[in-house]
Amino acid sequence: MTSSRISGFHKFTRTQRLQELIQQGLLTDREAAELGVEAAASGDLADHLSENVISVMAVPLGVATNLIVDGVDVLVPMATEESSVIAAVGNGARACRATGGVTCEADAPCMIAQVQLTGIADLPAAQQAVSDKKQTISELCNACDPMLVKLGGGFVDLEVRIAGPFLVVHLIVDVRDAMGANAVNTMAEAVAPKLAEWTGGRVGLRILSNLADRRLVRARAVWPASEIGRNTVQGIVSAYEFAAHDPYRAATHNKGIMNGVSAVALATGNDTRALEAGAHAYASTQGNAGGYGPLTRYGITEDGDLWGEIEMPMPVGIVGGATKAHPTAQKSLKIMQVDNADRLARVTASVGLIQNFSALRALATEGIQRGHMGLHARNVAIVAGAEGADIDRVAEAMIERLEVREDVARALLAEFKG
Ligand code: NAD
Repeated sequence: MTSSRISGFHKFTRTQRLQELIQQGLLTDREAAELGVEAAASGDLADHLSENVISVMAVPLGVATNLIVDGVDVLVPMATEESSVIAAVGNGARACRATGGVTCEADAPCMIAQVQLTGIADLPAAQQAVSDKKQTISELCNACDPMLVKLGGGFVDLEVRIAGPFLVVHLIVDVRDAMGANAVNTMAEAVAPKLAEWTGGRVGLRILSNLADRRLVRARAVWPASEIGRNTVQGIVSAYEFAAHDPYRAATHNKGIMNGVSAVALATGNDTRALEAGAHAYASTQGNAGGYGPLTRYGITEDGDLWGEIEMPMPVGIVGGATKAHPTAQKSLKIMQVDNADRLARVTASVGLIQNFSALRALATEGIQRGHMGLHARNVAIVAGAEGADIDRVAEAMIERLEVREDVARALLAEFKG
């Protein structure tokens, strides 16, 4: 590479950007052409959604089967590059169909916007001054988004907190079917100058909080011991308790939940980072000792079956952001038969719960590797250059030998090709 300072790169066409990378010696002609081919179908859309686009990054989009949410069957599109994730949802969902699948409760879709005020001498007095203006603040917020108000959303509540040397004003807004970041950020910016005037402070940051704890979803399922085995019931409860006592385990436990949640979010054009931030921030209060802990809980019913529950923030939308702009996101929603954010939030939380159940089931019994190995072996075979029927042939041979490595795959491939 000659230099990362490329003047006007953002103004180039995609082809010119690829050309630039060829000139810098970072891509061959062939590689650039391949990126161009990959972008052929959706490169223009990508150019609208992001910046300095050279191509698109394809991620597998699969459909998880067998799930029932609130009494209604649903097929769930999931976008993920990680093997076993979608299969795990299908298996875990099948195992709780006899007990009705997953049932959920969801909060109203309320997001929090924060306005930070600095340089205030008498914080309690300023806190009172802002609290007294609740009605005016409500009107200022609602004037920003008449559409939202018409749909039954808008300003809901006010919280005025003292955080260290700062006054922090929370605007709590019902964002209806949107994720709501832009909607509430606009309100925070509109209200901020007034808050400074009333408190004598200076306006600091004005942005939503990703700790969306006013927008929680709770989902619950029961897996019969007759279906999963008594030892598995005990094993999963013990695995949950491990996570509740140990943040090192809880981080991995929650990562597994997000394997499902983020895959549904990506498939529907939602902001995966907002969900991840909210999930882990919320988890930081869920441990047994009050610190970081698991987002799910498990126990044993009177009949000896396994119950599992998840509770987590679920700021997902079906309008706004990329949800409407991305045709694949629209098709994902269509497959799910989802026409409101509430249903999407419930299905997404259910996927998180089922995903976690399946991971714990594997961990508590045979270990995670056996199930993972088949798909992992296929990936290794592809990296080693296998194509078509050779992918499975090489993968199976590696598993048989208990040696899943790229060098082994290459040797097998050479052997098969004679
Ligand atoms: P948006 O800006 O497109 O606004 C959504 C609008 O949809 C609302 O203003 C509302 O008027 C309208 N709406 C709500 N329900 C509706 C319905 N049923 N029918 C028709 N319209 C309806 O989108 P947004 O959801 O406010 O913002 C989401 C985007 O913001 C995401 O792309 C996210 O990545 C981004 N973002 C995130 C952060 C963060 O998480 N920290 C910060 C900034 C921006």
